[in-house]
Amino acid sequence: MPRVVRKSSQTELTIFKLIQATPSISRVELSKLSGLSSAAITGVVSSLIQKGFLVEERASAKVIGRKRVGLSLRSSLGCVIGIDLGTFNLRIVVTDLNGEILASRQERTEMGRGREGVLDRCFSLVRETLASSGVRPDELLGIGVAFSGVIDVQHGRILSYPRLGQVEQWRNVPLKEIIEDELGVPCLLEDSVRAVATSEKYLGAGHALKDFVYVDVGMGVGASIFIDGKIYRGYNGSAGEFGHMTVDVDGPLYCCGSNGCLEALATCTTIIETVQTAIEKGVPTKTLELAGGNPAAITIEIIAQAAEQNDSLAYRALSEAASHIGAAAADLVNLLNPQAIIFGGALFRSAPGLLLEQVRRVVRHRAMEKSANDVTLLISPLLSDAGSRGMARLVAAELVDSIYMNSQA
Ligand SMILES: [Zn+2]
Repeated sequence: MPRVVRKSSQTELTIFKLIQATPSISRVELSKLSGLSSAAITGVVSSLIQKGFLVEERASAKVIGRKRVGLSLRSSLGCVIGIDLGTFNLRIVVTDLNGEILASRQERTEMGRGREGVLDRCFSLVRETLASSGVRPDELLGIGVAFSGVIDVQHGRILSYPRLGQVEQWRNVPLKEIIEDELGVPCLLEDSVRAVATSEKYLGAGHALKDFVYVDVGMGVGASIFIDGKIYRGYNGSAGEFGHMTVDVDGPLYCCGSNGCLEALATCTTIIETVQTAIEKGVPTKTLELAGGNPAAITIEIIAQAAEQNDSLAYRALSEAASHIGAAAADLVNLLNPQAIIFGGALFRSAPGLLLEQVRRVVRHRAMEKSANDVTLLISPLLSDAGSRGMARLVAAELVDSIYMNSQA
C-alpha cells in the first residue's frame, strides 16, 4: 500500500529533490525554482539540515552583501555507481548523491570475451573501484548502467545489440536482474545516448536549457530530446533514433533494413572508411603520413588533424558527414523548434570548429527561417566519461524519494 505522505513532508521531499538535482543551490534559487516564499524555504531547509540530509557550503569568494551559501546533500547519505558499458570502453564511476566523483576507472570492454566474460570482468572492476573509493559496500545504494543496444528501460532488459558477432550474445538479456543479483543493490538500465544527454543536462551545456536536443556522433548516431526539461521517450520508449533519419533516399542499405540512414553516412567509422577507400584509389593525403604509412591505423583524430593542415581529402570527408548531420538537424529544427541542439561524441570532439561551422551552414540553408534563426547550435563541453557520470546522476535521482521516505519511517 502506498505510504501516505503529509503535506509538510511532501514539500520537504520536493526541496530535497531540487537540491539533489542542483547541488550547491542557494536558498534564493530554491525559492525561485519551487515558487515557495523565502520564509518557507528557510523553514524547510532548517528541518532538512536538522534531520542530517543537507550540508551548507560557504562560498570562499567575498561577495558584497550577504554571503552565498550553497546547499548540497550530505555525502554520508550514500553513494552510487555509474557504468558505461560501451562497445569499446568500459567506464566506471563512484559518486556521492551530488554527483561528486569519489573514484573512477576506465578499461577496454573486450566484447570478444562474450557476455559472461564481459560481465564477470565488469563485476570485479566495479568491486575494485568501489574499494579504491573508500566507500563501504553497505553505503552503496544503487547502480546505473548505460548500454548502446536497444533497451527496454522499464523492464531493465537489453533487447538487441546490433554489432557484428555480438547479436546472439546480447539478445534479450535481463541485465538489471543480473546486476541486482550479483551486487545486491537496485539497478537502472538506460540507453547510452540518454545517459550522456543526462550529463549534458546536469553538468554540461544543457544546464540552463529546457527544450533542447542532444546529438551524439561516434561509432553510431543517437539523440536525446528534452521537452520542458525532461527526456522525451516516445510511446514505447524508442524516441531519439536520430541515426535512422533518412538523409538520402537512394543511399546505401543499412543494417536496420532501410537505406540512406544518417548512421550509414556520417559516423567516425564511415569517415575513416571514406578516407581509406580514397587512399586505395591513390588519392594523396596527409592522413597516411600521420598514420605512419598504415591506412588501418587512421583514426578520426588523425583525419581531423590532417583537415586542420588543409588536407583536402580529410576536409571533404568531415565536411560531407557534417552536411548529412546538418540536413537531419534541419528537420529536427523544423519539427521541434528547439532552443538549442548540442553536438557531442567522438566525432564532434575531434574537429568541433570545422564540423559545427558546416552543420550551422546547412541548418540555416534548410530549416525554416524563424526556427533556424532562433536555434543555438553548441558543442558539448563534456569528456568521454559523460555516460558513466550521467548514469550515476540518473540512478541517484531515482533513489532520492526512497532515501527520504525511509528516513521518515
Ligand atoms: Zn536505419
